[in-house]
Amino acid sequence: MGYKNNIDNKNKYLPKPTFILIIMNNMNYNPRRLFFNNPLRSVIQLLFVVIFVVIVRYFWGFAGAHYVCPWALAEVPVLMIKLKTRLFFIWGIIIGIAGIAVTLVYPRVFCGWICPLGTLFEFLGNCGQKIGIHSHRIPHWLNEKMRIFSFGIIIILLVLTYFKGLLICQFACPAFWLCAMWKLSIPIVAIGFLILWLLLSVRVKRGFCRYVCPYGGLTSLFVPLSHFAVKMNLELCNNCGLCNKACPMGIDLTGNITVRSEHCIACNDCIKYCPKQSLYWGKRRKN
Ligand code: SF4
Ligand code: SF4
Ligand code: SF4
Repeated sequence: MGYKNNIDNKNKYLPKPTFILIIMNNMNYNPRRLFFNNPLRSVIQLLFVVIFVVIVRYFWGFAGAHYVCPWALAEVPVLMIKLKTRLFFIWGIIIGIAGIAVTLVYPRVFCGWICPLGTLFEFLGNCGQKIGIHSHRIPHWLNEKMRIFSFGIIIILLVLTYFKGLLICQFACPAFWLCAMWKLSIPIVAIGFLILWLLLSVRVKRGFCRYVCPYGGLTSLFVPLSHFAVKMNLELCNNCGLCNKACPMGIDLTGNITVRSEHCIACNDCIKYCPKQSLYWGKRRKN
């Protein structure tokens, strides 16, 4: 009875129309796949990668990542105040607000399902594992604490943007340089950062998303307000720890009735991987 309830619970919060989504959502998780471990999510991620490439390439040229970057939400207003200009990069600001709005429903769903950069980093991490470069398992307590780095980066970026009067994030932004390096000459400092972020994401799954990305840090502040969270039926759980292994953000799920970590990107991987069907989406505030 409890088992059936959990299957029902698993599908209860899927968006409508649900038929195709339920079929895809219940496909078997295969940890040996490079991609498509979670087919529904992979299809949506790939769709957004294609949309991003088309937008950047055909509408704004290869330097156009700026226009759709959600971090514009924080940095552009600072620059507006400094330079006394009108609002610019409006699409980025709209995307930034939308990313926070969806976080109020599912935690950081923009990061888990939409952001092309997150998709790239996740794919690189999987490639690394496939060729035997195993990602480091950061102790759970440290993993949660190291989120503080992204807050430090937010402060540094906003302060430097104000005092320098330019979008300072561009020097270290992997999305911008992966798009722009074919057109612009890439500064040495940007090469260094790009290599660092790519290596980090191979050595620590989604390491950039966990500890560096300023927009990721910003959205994580809203996770405690998310309506839904991953919940666990402790009666069904056998403490096998497979959910922890599946989580790309290194979250410790075991023993938690409600997963409250601000790292959660609502990717659903833990739910798909659990052999006991003890994980499901439920209301955060309800125990
Ligand atoms: S943390 Fe940043 S880079 Fe990672 S998925 Fe979220 S917005 Fe994208
Ligand atoms: S994978 Fe499922 S059964 Fe195993 S520890 Fe996680 S919740 Fe429990
Ligand atoms: S695996 Fe589960 S806990 Fe980890 S980020 Fe995805 S949904 Fe959140």
